[in-house]
Parts: sequence; C-alpha cells; structure tokens
Amino acid sequence: MSNALSPAQRLTQLINTINEYNYQYYVQDNPSVPDAEYDRLMRELLDIEKAHPDLRSPDSPSQKVGGAALSAFEQVEHEVPMLSLDNAFDEDDMFAFEKRIKDRLKITSEISFSCEPKLDGLAVSILYEDGKLVRAATRGDGRVGENITTNVRTIANVPLSLRGEDFPQRLEVRGEVIMTRAGFDILNEAQIKKGKKPFVNPRNAAAGSLRQLDPKITAARPLLFYSYSLGLVENEQQPLGTTHSARLKQLSDWGLPLSKELEVAQGAKECLTYFHKIGELRSQLSYDIDGVVFKVDDIAMQQTLGFVARAPRWAIAHKFAAQEEMSTLLDVEFQV
Ligand code: NAD
Repeated sequence: MSNALSPAQRLTQLINTINEYNYQYYVQDNPSVPDAEYDRLMRELLDIEKAHPDLRSPDSPSQKVGGAALSAFEQVEHEVPMLSLDNAFDEDDMFAFEKRIKDRLKITSEISFSCEPKLDGLAVSILYEDGKLVRAATRGDGRVGENITTNVRTIANVPLSLRGEDFPQRLEVRGEVIMTRAGFDILNEAQIKKGKKPFVNPRNAAAGSLRQLDPKITAARPLLFYSYSLGLVENEQQPLGTTHSARLKQLSDWGLPLSKELEVAQGAKECLTYFHKIGELRSQLSYDIDGVVFKVDDIAMQQTLGFVARAPRWAIAHKFAAQEEMSTLLDVEFQV
C-alpha cells in the first residue's frame, strides 16, 4: 500500500502512527505493538528523511526523545538534557559508527569503548546534594520529566545517602529502573488473581510501577536501579575520572549499584565480541536487556563529539533481534 503513496504522504502516515505508539508506550506504559515493529517503522521514517532532507520537520519523532511528562506529577526540568541513543542493528552499523567517530576526531588509533548491557527499563535521574538523595525524575521528553522522588526512595538498592565524603556537592546519577523477570512473574500472577490486566513485559511493569501516585504501590513492586552515567556535577571535591568507566567506578565507590557486566573494549571488533558474549549470557541474567550500549570511554573525546538532536554522537545501542517480544505480547493478550 505504501508504494502508492508519495514519500511525503508516507512520512505523514508514519509520523501519525509513531506518535500514537509513543503515547501508548511512554505516557500510558501500555504498548500495542512489539518493539521490533516500532523499530521497523522508525527505520522507514529515518530512511525517507535521509533521502528527502527537505521533508524532515523539527517535530518529527526522529528529532524527539520519549514522551511528555504526565501532568499528575510535578514537573522537573533537567539541567542537563536526558537524551536517547542511536541504534546499530548489525555489524556494518557498528563499523560505520566507529568510522564516523574516527573521522570526526581525525584519529586512526583504536578507540576505547565502555561496553554496557542495555537494561530494558525506565531511565531515571537521581540528584544527591551533600550526599543526600533530594530528587528523582523520569526522563520524560528529555527536557522535562516527572518528579518521582518518593517512589524512587522506596527502591531497595537506591542509596538514600552516599558513602564516603569525597562526592561532589551536587551529583546527578542516571540509570535504569528495572524489574527482574522473577519479580515480574510473581506480580503478574497476583494481577491475574485479582482479575486485573497483567503487564505486557517487565519494562512496562517497571515503568507503570514507578509512575504511581501512591508510593506504597511502588514500594510493593520488585524494582531495582542500576547506574550508567553522571548528569549534572557541581563542586566536586576530588577530580572526576577522565574516562566514563572510571566515573562509573567512582559512582560504585559512593554506593551506587552498577551492572556486573561492564567492560572496556578496544575498537568495534572487540565491541562485537562483547555483543555476542552478552547475547549468550542474556537468558541467564535475572533481568531483561534489549541490546548492549557502547560509549566512547574518553570524556574529552565525548565532549568533542557532542550531540545531535536526540542522541550523543559518542554512544550507540546495538540491539538484539527482538523476536520473542512478539510472543510476550501475544501471550499476554491471550491471558487477558
Ligand atoms: P532506547 O531505549 O532505544 O535507548 C535509550 C535508553 O536506553 C536510555 O534512555 C536508557 O533508558 C536506556 N539504557 C539502558 N541501558 C543503558 C546504558 N547502559 N546506558 C545508557 N542508556 C541505557 O531509547 P528510547 O528512545 O527510550 O526508546 C526507543 C525504543 O523504545 C525503541 O527502539 C523501541 O524499542 C521502544 N519503543 C517501543 C514502542 C512500542 O510501541 N512498542 C514505542 C516507543 C518506543
């Protein structure tokens, strides 16, 4: 059917469909299509915009992050925007990513990458002032998120106070709130017993659990937090590490939880080895991941590379093929 449409008409159709899916996923925590289908439409949109740059509008979903904050929550303006990530779907995309970076930095030597599992949950910002947790927020549209401080305080592995004394006076930690698969199964059994609709997958269960107006409900849900970067940092008492991996280690020293599968790799080839290794480990992990994330480890290089509209140039998410997400969605539909 799309063959009969002009690129402009097909683009309009894609924008409308993707905007609706974004609303269901980010605002209602209730997607109606598997991620693989969403990703396919998004790639088609990106291809049309690449072929016809004049058709790209600033309010295209390709230029935006996430969804709007729910008005039921107080709004939090992110002092440093919370962006999304570009995607790599195959080895060619990974080598193209490495080449873009080397070309931009005008270097030929091997680049170090921080390699991290891509946790499938909800991005959260946690602000510590003088070592005390003072505020937590969702990513929202990247600029404005929802104030979910009371809910985040109930997550078992989130420290309310930092360890040691050498942390910055203001420190924003970013990471993912996830639900373990075991916790998800127990929660869904209970939902079904109560005659309530089960959650589609752990990611949506985590998002729905965190964006509750009653923190008692969040407290009863099996949520965990893993840090993956720093946002705002003010008045540091010791120099921050010059690499992303060293900074994560500092977060861990201050008591913040990190994923156990972090590594540093040299060049895209080693990144791909990591990707396959994590792919094999995936089913044994206690939580869902939908890929791995590679970040240029050197902070000065990250700063030179900078950002495009919705994502940093120095990072990429290499996604796993997502066949089983379809079956998760269908299973749940049969159960309802
Ligand atoms: P994303 O999930 O592709 O990548 C960015 C996010 O990755 C970050 O915001 C963070 O939350 C997360 N992340 C996990 N581990 C990380 C790590 N180690 N370092 C940095 N970030 C890490 O981005 P997005 O823009 O939130 O979502 C787009 C994706 O969401 C789509 O590709 C699709 O899979 C899914 N989606 C699905 C639907 C649907 O209807 N099924 C709708 C919208 C989005």
